[in-house]
Amino acid sequence: MELRTPKGTRDLLPPATKVWAEVESIAREVFELYGYREIRTPIIEDAALFERGVGEGTDLVGKEMFSFPDKAGRRLTLRPESTASVCRAYVQHQLHLKPHPLKFYYMGPQFRYERPQKGRYRQFHQIGVELFGGAGGASYYHADVEVISLLVRFLQKFGLTGLEVKLNSVGDRESREGYRAALVDYFQKWQGTLSDDSKRRVLQNPLRILDSKHPDDAPAISGAPEITDYLNSLSRSHFDAVLNLLTDLGIPFRVEPRLVRGLDYYTHTVFEVVSHGLGSQDAICGGGAYANLIKQLGGPSVYGVGFAIGEDRLVELFSEESKRRLEGIGPLIVAPQAQNSKYGSAYEMDDAIALCEKIRAMGVPADWTMGRPEKVFKFAEYLNSRFVIFVSPDWGRTQVVSVRDMESKSLTTTPISHAIELWRSLHLIKREGRDD
Ligand code: AMP
Repeated sequence: MELRTPKGTRDLLPPATKVWAEVESIAREVFELYGYREIRTPIIEDAALFERGVGEGTDLVGKEMFSFPDKAGRRLTLRPESTASVCRAYVQHQLHLKPHPLKFYYMGPQFRYERPQKGRYRQFHQIGVELFGGAGGASYYHADVEVISLLVRFLQKFGLTGLEVKLNSVGDRESREGYRAALVDYFQKWQGTLSDDSKRRVLQNPLRILDSKHPDDAPAISGAPEITDYLNSLSRSHFDAVLNLLTDLGIPFRVEPRLVRGLDYYTHTVFEVVSHGLGSQDAICGGGAYANLIKQLGGPSVYGVGFAIGEDRLVELFSEESKRRLEGIGPLIVAPQAQNSKYGSAYEMDDAIALCEKIRAMGVPADWTMGRPEKVFKFAEYLNSRFVIFVSPDWGRTQVVSVRDMESKSLTTTPISHAIELWRSLHLIKREGRDD
């Protein structure tokens, strides 16, 4: 039997892994600019965490979790998202006792048992943040705005076009109860035409119908009540404050009155970033505030807000050019200049390895190979290397080597120090270019 990756999972090979690593390193840089620090939680959690936190009526918990008993019969789940885990950690470690606001970021794999398609995997990767606010109503909307501005600043690093921030408020619990009741009333009148999934949701989770992409549901959804008409004054003023501050800061967004997001824990501000460059799976980020989740998980009443970016989808948006920029440049390749045979002898390899070590000691990546020049050039191409250094046995005395520029195909004799400088300046150009 041929062994392959499990359904919905993928291997990431170089040079794609380098692009991913760069995305993650830029995320760390930007998040730390805003005072966020990394949190790492386990990939497995108690199944009850998601049932209680995310909600049993959601698709995520009802249909999509990878859950299994361990050998002692504990019910475990491969995490389908990380907000619940970060909140569990907050409660478990009594982080409410620390000075606030408290800001965390995370990155790593998530698991959902969904039907795989382009942009949708069973193991996918999220980069996210969570901000826990202190007491005082005034700070809550600042927290929402900060998280959104952080998100926009991060995404700007990749020079993407066609991205849009969609924003809405799902209000507090009281507002949502009123809205829910209105939706149940409304959708009951459409029972006959709704898709089977949505029919089931009318009583159970009518907000979720608004997320449906099923064509049968479109006519009902297009006339459905909007939550903005059901916000109580507290929720309304919170939302207005968010909109005003975002506008003052010049952060572009669009209010999308039917954006509700699928998870039960959201309150107040919810948002998504969609890309017009992706197909049906067009959301690259989802987020929102949650005023009750920490309490629901056994902690005090603490306001939280966060987002999760789908790293797989983000990378799918990159142009070939920006991927190449993120890949960076390959190492200097050192090969023996064949003296006695066409291919270079083992003895001549000693020189190549010694020179490699010298270059590496100066903090410049170097790699070695041997063989006919065409084979050496293939190796250099595969590693995305611009320069090949051919070294002869007297390099220690002369400090001079032959350098082949893979782009111009020229071969020049030059001091070793110059070859190293060539690599360094090219590396700098690539790094500077990445903020475009
Ligand atoms: P959610 O909180 O479910 O909206 O997820 C946040 C982001 O994670 C989405 O906007 C997607 O970019 C990404 N995402 C969610 N599910 C998947 C999946 N099955 N495959 C790939 N990316 C996903």
